[in-house]
Amino acid sequence: EKLDKAFETERQFTSDASHELRTPMSVIMAQCEYTLEEPRPAKEYEEALRVIQRQSRKMSGLINDMLDFARLDTHSDRYGKVNIDMTELVTSVCTDMALIREKEISLQFEVEKGVGFYGNRELFSRLLANLISNAYRYGRENGHIWVRLWTGEKELHLSVADDGIGINGEEQQKIFRRFYQADNSRSGVGLGLGLSMAYEIARFHGGDISVESVPGNGSIFTFTATFL
Ligand code: ADP
Repeated sequence: EKLDKAFETERQFTSDASHELRTPMSVIMAQCEYTLEEPRPAKEYEEALRVIQRQSRKMSGLINDMLDFARLDTHSDRYGKVNIDMTELVTSVCTDMALIREKEISLQFEVEKGVGFYGNRELFSRLLANLISNAYRYGRENGHIWVRLWTGEKELHLSVADDGIGINGEEQQKIFRRFYQADNSRSGVGLGLGLSMAYEIARFHGGDISVESVPGNGSIFTFTATFL
């Protein structure tokens, strides 16, 4: 049953991903056909190339994400684990991302000193960056983001909280699925892969991510993993 479910998820992913790739591909093909119909002024060629560049970037991003999902699934050597200084990693990601100040949102962080964890630095940075990007994206004007790193007796916790638009109860179950976007997401931004990537990264490290959210009040995403 477990295998069946895994295959089904895989099939669904392939089908959704192909669908997502088809749109930019069609735009590129249509643009080429139109532009090549007759000789055109240089300006039009330039515009056509810009359209093609934008669409290819989209495709390339999606292909990279697909590759990463596959690598995480198979625990490939691409993502080796070492002892990471989590205090330093979280501080540096937060310091950089606090500069974004989108919608005048301010980012604060409270990081326990001397926290280490056995894992992959690049993946952890990505997990945290994805959660923080979402907090900006679904945050409100003049809102706040709070990042916290702390440890329990045997486990590490990393949380990202916001006072943004929140997610309703029914959708909270679904947002970790690949390509799933809740009603609150404005179309055109993102692909619905950020949280599923964060979830896979958490699993890769033997951990989990949970969400608590109140529509209109905000959300908190918490990563938890046991120290080995
Ligand atoms: P997306 O590219 O759409 O942001 P994600 O996988 O990162 O994809 O998130 C899935 C969905 O979960 C989003 O479309 C959005 O509806 C919801 N979501 C994620 N983070 C938040 C948040 N901090 N506040 C409110 N909704 C969120």
